[in-house]
Amino acid sequence: MPAWFTTLQVALGAGAVAADDATLDFYAQDVFSQGEALAVVVSPSAVDELQLTVKTLAAAGVAMVPRGGGLSYTDGYLARQKGSALIDLARMDNLVELNTVDRYVTVETGMYWSTLNDLLAPHGLRTPYWGPLSGLRSTIGGALSQCSVFLGSGEYGSVGDSVLSLEVVLADGSVLTTGSAAAGGETKPFIRYFGPDLTGLFVGDAGALGIKARATFKLIPREVDIDFVSAEFDDPTAMIEAMSEISRNDIAAECFSFDPVLLEQRKKRMSLLADAETLLKVVKQSGVMAGLGLVASGRDFVGEDKYSTHVSIEGKTAGEVAAKVAAAKRIFAARGQATENSFPKALRAMPFVAPNSMLGPAGERWVPVHAIFPHSTAQAAFKTLQAFFASKQSWLDEHQIRIGYLCTTVAQQAVLIEPVFYWNDSHTAYHKRVVEADYLKKCGEPAANPSATAAVGALKAETARLMRILGGIHFQIGKFYTYREGRNAAALALFDAIKKQLDPQNIMNPGVLK
Ligand SMILES: Cc1cc2nc3c(=O)[nH]c(=O)nc-3n(C[C@H](O)[C@H](O)[C@H](O)COP(=O)(O)OP(=O)(O)OC[C@H]3O[C@@H](n4cnc5c(N)ncnc54)[C@H](O)[C@@H]3O)c2cc1C
Repeated sequence: MPAWFTTLQVALGAGAVAADDATLDFYAQDVFSQGEALAVVVSPSAVDELQLTVKTLAAAGVAMVPRGGGLSYTDGYLARQKGSALIDLARMDNLVELNTVDRYVTVETGMYWSTLNDLLAPHGLRTPYWGPLSGLRSTIGGALSQCSVFLGSGEYGSVGDSVLSLEVVLADGSVLTTGSAAAGGETKPFIRYFGPDLTGLFVGDAGALGIKARATFKLIPREVDIDFVSAEFDDPTAMIEAMSEISRNDIAAECFSFDPVLLEQRKKRMSLLADAETLLKVVKQSGVMAGLGLVASGRDFVGEDKYSTHVSIEGKTAGEVAAKVAAAKRIFAARGQATENSFPKALRAMPFVAPNSMLGPAGERWVPVHAIFPHSTAQAAFKTLQAFFASKQSWLDEHQIRIGYLCTTVAQQAVLIEPVFYWNDSHTAYHKRVVEADYLKKCGEPAANPSATAAVGALKAETARLMRILGGIHFQIGKFYTYREGRNAAALALFDAIKKQLDPQNIMNPGVLK
């Protein structure tokens, strides 16, 4: 073993420095791809241990790859250099400061979103953006490094719009502080801007510039009242037009849509899941009548060939919510038909669930690809994507690849369009460890079919390219989406200079932001 390995074992304890085959194999995969072989997985439990880890590896010139919950699917934490060290942040999950007076919370970045939400709820508080759907097992640091969106995004945008300050361990092991706290002395991390915005520099960096150790978020009062509205549409243009209207008018905390294929997959999956648990939570949150409504509507609350949109509407008063509900209903009525609001209700009753949806209801493999479009181009982008896939229909049939769509709004500016691919291939070690055993048993496993997986890989890359040509941009850039191509030369030169300053050896997650 090299000297750095022994140094880390002595400093962190043997249990925090793993190099057995099973661990190295698991951490070298994400849900879709396989990275280069790792030399070690190091799991620091505190900021000083993280600093020591980074310093030791840097001195030995070993490339480092940070990982949070490992629930991204764009190669972000997969090594491009053989023999890299993966730094697993999951043990750094402590609350650092909850300041209810100044309305901010500071946590270590390995904390799961569901943990943060549970911790804030008794105080009647939450962060404005409060997590991705994977938040039961995905971390604060992962979301910040990808600029994730979902819960609260309809109103408050991405995670980047809710963060105030960061403490980042740089490639030499030193700590860089951003936001007001960088001013030093007694200055608290209560405001993001005191001079140029260094917090923003690290949001969405995919871990290229350093390892986020602590993050401070704004706090807001939890919603006082909430209601839900759903509608179905005959075509995607009406669906996206309605989403844009909801978004532009700042009506919903979440506004999301399914096409008929994704809806069918969701309905089938729901019948595999513990419906009773969801029902209980709906009853607890929205009352017995709402629970009965969920049962009565069964799983057929949206027509089979329909596109559907679902909104959660929050407010400080019942009057505010009622006015927004009326506005949403008007927008929907002009373009589609009202349906049961069971989807958004169930989502809010159980916002964080096990990430079982990374396998389809018949055990199919799953991977999404996405882009975010301004309202003015979102409808055309959706139609172009549909036409693109239609032009490949016989090839898709040959490989039995099915495509659904999930869409969601981002603040008042945009619609995220996410084609989701399903195909048959056997499960990897990653699926077997991350998906719940009960779900794995119920959904079954298709036979090995590597040529279909290779076909999806090619399709995913082609789709991402088309989305960029259409003017879409990406969160979760990782090592999959292109960052540099076509970018303003001065912006790129500045980014390169910053990267060189912070990571002169290029050992901090090399290959991201390509
Ligand atoms: C079922 C399912 C549902 C999902 N739902 C959503 C959703 O609603 N919205 C959404 O945006 N995404 C979603 N995702 C994608 C993904 O889970 C999220 O983007 C999530 O934020 C990733 O967090 P993570 O902790 O798993 O990060 P990881 O996958 O571990 O890492 C992501 C990237 O961040 C880097 N990184 C991680 N931690 C740090 C750190 N502390 N410092 C520096 N770099 C770091 C990694 O190197 C990598 O590049 C979903 C995925 C699944 C499987």
